[in-house]
Amino acid sequence: MTLYRAQVLDTPDDPFSGGVLRCEADAGLLVEDGLIVERGSFAEVRRRHPAAEVVQLPDGVLLPGLIDTHVHFPQVRVIGALGMPLLEWLERCALPEESRLADVGYARAVAAEFVGALLGAGTTTALVFGSHFAPAVDVLFEAAAASGLRITSGLVVGDRMLRPDLHTTAQRGYDEGRLLAERWHGAGHSRYAVIPRFALSCSDDLLASCGHLHRDVPDSWFTSHLNENLDEVATVRRLFGGGTYLDCYDRHGLLGPRSVLAHDVHPTDEELKRMAEAGVSVAHCPTSNAALGSGLFPLNRHLAYGVRVALGCDVGAGTGFSLFKEGLQAYLLQRLRGPDGAVLTAAHLLHLATAAGAQALGLRDQVGDLGAGMRFDAIWVRPHHGTPLHIGMRHSSGPDEALARVFALATSHDVVQVWTGGEAVVTPA
Ligand SMILES: [Zn+2]
Repeated sequence: MTLYRAQVLDTPDDPFSGGVLRCEADAGLLVEDGLIVERGSFAEVRRRHPAAEVVQLPDGVLLPGLIDTHVHFPQVRVIGALGMPLLEWLERCALPEESRLADVGYARAVAAEFVGALLGAGTTTALVFGSHFAPAVDVLFEAAAASGLRITSGLVVGDRMLRPDLHTTAQRGYDEGRLLAERWHGAGHSRYAVIPRFALSCSDDLLASCGHLHRDVPDSWFTSHLNENLDEVATVRRLFGGGTYLDCYDRHGLLGPRSVLAHDVHPTDEELKRMAEAGVSVAHCPTSNAALGSGLFPLNRHLAYGVRVALGCDVGAGTGFSLFKEGLQAYLLQRLRGPDGAVLTAAHLLHLATAAGAQALGLRDQVGDLGAGMRFDAIWVRPHHGTPLHIGMRHSSGPDEALARVFALATSHDVVQVWTGGEAVVTPA
């Protein structure tokens, strides 16, 4: 048994429904076999378990592991290409790089970089867009399994409007997906997701085969893109004969509580109503939306309809792996919406980056906060001496202010230790 002593912040109760930041300035978390078995003040827990090994985490804060609900494995090396809208960025930056993953040696190197960058940013659970190439998806799952990262991922499919080498067929997409799911769905912390790239690049036949695969792999996940960019939305509607974007997925049985759709910057009221009804979650990716000029995410409309929202970094259109940066950008985007914007506190941002992600991925009974009964997936944010974050945290008036400073100023470099399931996966350099 290990007893961790730290200042612990988390959001077990949803701040969007009246919950507040939970803070314990000198907490004790007793961890056994990767599970938090007891939580209380350090002095109390210590008294009850005098023999437990104590790990002191002075300074900074201990937070739940961050949960990213939308990120692309093949795009680590193309982050930061600015100045283009979505469809041009795909053609010039993302898709040429995705083609390189046909080479499994190349894919293996990218997988190591990808998993290292996620964990280094403090992300312990992620819903990941895999590759268009099945062997590359295998190496991603292998790298994640070896690292302790919890991932849900799968083969990405498309059969038009990408590049010919990235196109598949309905039958091949199904067969390759089925084999990958047999190997990885439910193996350790890995789960399989059915991933049509987006309706624009998928014929109705291909989406139908995705629907079959989703049904044939019990408890598989479904993820794709939705309503990201106005040109994309108009093209999808034209290609599919005028229905809503969401209909393209809905008509093939792809919507339900195990569905996560990225972006949704331009939804109709009808789509929001349907997503809430079906229990679909939206992955909000604010740095990507800003970088590609996609638009200002209508968070209040999602909340009003009861659509669940979590955060995604959307690397490589997003500008990095840190969900602190995504949280800050989510806050800034809402400010730019003026009176239509949601006013987000630090507790909202932490919730979006942790418990809301766990909820979207059906893992809320295991991760998302640091209460008793949860897995010990945690990150220690300890700013380097003399940095603005260190100064700001030392001079904050309370935990809410300290956490706001973390979202404003923290980077991956401030995440000095990361645990998943009680195992240290990133340790201080
Ligand atoms: Zn994306």
